[in-house]
Amino acid sequence: MKALISLIIPCYNEEEQLPETLRVIPTQLPEDFDFELLFVDDGSTDQSWALIQEASAKDSRVRGLRFSRNFGKEAALVAGLEEARGDAVVIMDCDLQLPPRYLPEMLKLWQEGAEIVEGVKESRQKESLASRLSAGLFYRLFAQASGMQLKNASDFKLLDRKVVDVWQQLPEKDPFFRGLAAWVGFRRESFRFHVDERQHGQSKWSFKKLFRLSLDALTGFSAKPLRLIALLGLLLELAFLVTGLVSLIRLASGRALSAFNGVILLQLLIGGLILLALGLHGIYIGRLYESSKDRPRYILSERCGGHSSS
Ligand code: UDP
Ligand code: MG
Repeated sequence: MKALISLIIPCYNEEEQLPETLRVIPTQLPEDFDFELLFVDDGSTDQSWALIQEASAKDSRVRGLRFSRNFGKEAALVAGLEEARGDAVVIMDCDLQLPPRYLPEMLKLWQEGAEIVEGVKESRQKESLASRLSAGLFYRLFAQASGMQLKNASDFKLLDRKVVDVWQQLPEKDPFFRGLAAWVGFRRESFRFHVDERQHGQSKWSFKKLFRLSLDALTGFSAKPLRLIALLGLLLELAFLVTGLVSLIRLASGRALSAFNGVILLQLLIGGLILLALGLHGIYIGRLYESSKDRPRYILSERCGGHSSS
């Protein structure tokens, strides 16, 4: 019996891209495996779902999950992983920027015993200077905070069934896929790939979405920012002790204390630090709040293909 490989393909408003994706992927699947193509429609407001339904009616390997609204790519990956039945699972982008032509190479590494096969970006896609810089900054911060080096890491990964099962037992509510995939360990192999250019439609990541993802990723993997703030506070107290002593000595030697401005500056500095610290606490407490609500990561509204009736 051939091994079954699940491809998880998140889609958000990809009506322009989907026809090509649906045409190209089946032509690039190696013969010696069975495949299921699991499209997760992340609450698209265009014709994406109709296209997925149509494809699933024609090709029994195609299945679709539809979210009740846009929950974000990470949620789509979670849904895909929960739904996948394969002996191994491969994450792919709908825009083919994580190109299916690398499948044979990934599957070979898997057959040779790798439990996680990771795509490492040889080149980043064409993007603005601002987004390159902010991505660079994020990866630096993340590496510092969590000790995990994710630069040039991508969502392009193959996970063995074993890893997927472990993943599903993790209780985290906002998993940052790339981070968690690095954190779980297992026997890993990587391969280099070129990010193709997106053929149709626009990138679906807004600055707001990326900012949120970065914050979640950082606070999800490290409490270091909290400790850093405490350290800053300590340093500040030390500075106070020193300044206080100096002032006392000056007073004792009969000199007047000037520097009203200095006081204002100090106030600003301290106020700023307090706000920063409070803000950080807010972020972590926000995470606790989110997870204590225990709401699901996504809500399905429909499914198609496979054994479902629709
Ligand atoms: N995507 C999604 N939900 C979102 C944003 C993006 O499912 O809220 C999907 C999108 O359809 C695509 C993949 O995630 O298949 C990668 O998105 P995109 O190509 O826009 O990101 P980029 O390649 O620019 O990083
Ligand atoms: Mg893309």
